[in-house]
Amino acid sequence: MRTKILLIYTGGTIGMAKDYSSQSLKPFDFENLIKHIPELSLIDSDISFTGFEKPIDSSDMNPGHWVQLAEIIEKNYSQYDGFVILHGTDTMAYSASALSFMLNGLQKPVIFTGSQLPVGDLRTDAKENLITSIHFASLQEDGKPSIREVCIYFEYKLLRANRTTKISAENFDAFASPDYPDLGESGIRLDVRKHVLRFEEESIAFSVNKRLNTDLGLMKIFPGMSREFIENMFATKGMKVMIIEAFGSGNIFSFDWFKDLLRKRAEEGLLFIINSQCAGGMVEIGRYETSDIFKEIGAINGFDLTTEASVAKTIHLLGQDLSADEFKKRYETDLRGELTYLTQ
Ligand code: ASP
Repeated sequence: MRTKILLIYTGGTIGMAKDYSSQSLKPFDFENLIKHIPELSLIDSDISFTGFEKPIDSSDMNPGHWVQLAEIIEKNYSQYDGFVILHGTDTMAYSASALSFMLNGLQKPVIFTGSQLPVGDLRTDAKENLITSIHFASLQEDGKPSIREVCIYFEYKLLRANRTTKISAENFDAFASPDYPDLGESGIRLDVRKHVLRFEEESIAFSVNKRLNTDLGLMKIFPGMSREFIENMFATKGMKVMIIEAFGSGNIFSFDWFKDLLRKRAEEGLLFIINSQCAGGMVEIGRYETSDIFKEIGAINGFDLTTEASVAKTIHLLGQDLSADEFKKRYETDLRGELTYLTQ
């Protein structure tokens, strides 16, 4: 069957060119991008194009853009077999994680990709990334898409979006999924690892949840962090959730003033989510004495969430106006394959 794929261009290095006045890379328009990839016409799928009116560097992406992307998919959902989103690599894992939470009942592939070198560069990685993403998005089995979740494809690897993090600003191999197996690999053949893919119940109708809320803070701790800096962060007005990137399995310094501050802000209703600064492994609150305070204040366990998935999940769940108990319950639940449980 000849599949129909919608290619959505948002910007990023893939479509950039050098601005000779400033010597820096700037996004250029879509026609220019596809002119550089004549191979697209050889692909055995019908490809249509759309995208942001003005392509952007992904550093300028925000939840408003996530909604725009979700709306493009919503509007075109029934007409296409799969979606490929061209996106800057810097915040790709945030946008892709966010989309994984915003799209309910997804039965089609949504694959994010981009490149480390612009498409016009002689050594560009753009062509392989784009062409193979379209191939993965086109795979079908028994008349249904083989992949039915939000993914990132980059440098021969297909990864679950909300398990992925950018690990290199230099190498073509720029993304990794440290706590979950790769979903597929591109070699001579396209290898899809069916046993690690995620499938939504077919009875769940496709819908898009666009309610998002960014009243959150993210604090990465380090030895010697100043009390003044911490107190200022904790005093942020309107903040409903503070994500703490703690040491190792969820440990933190045990100064009395800090524990008192945590107790006070928790009593006032601020929710704390505990993640690990380690790329691999997960949070185990109570394993060491230095995490007991988190148990005492009823902090939420981020298990093995990536920073990107943790931020996106918080923004998504804050938008649902849940009670504190319900928020904690949903946060600690695996909603889209983003976390691994550890029974504690
Ligand atoms: N700054 C670029 C972006 O994220 C980097 C890239 O695409 O690789 O848009």
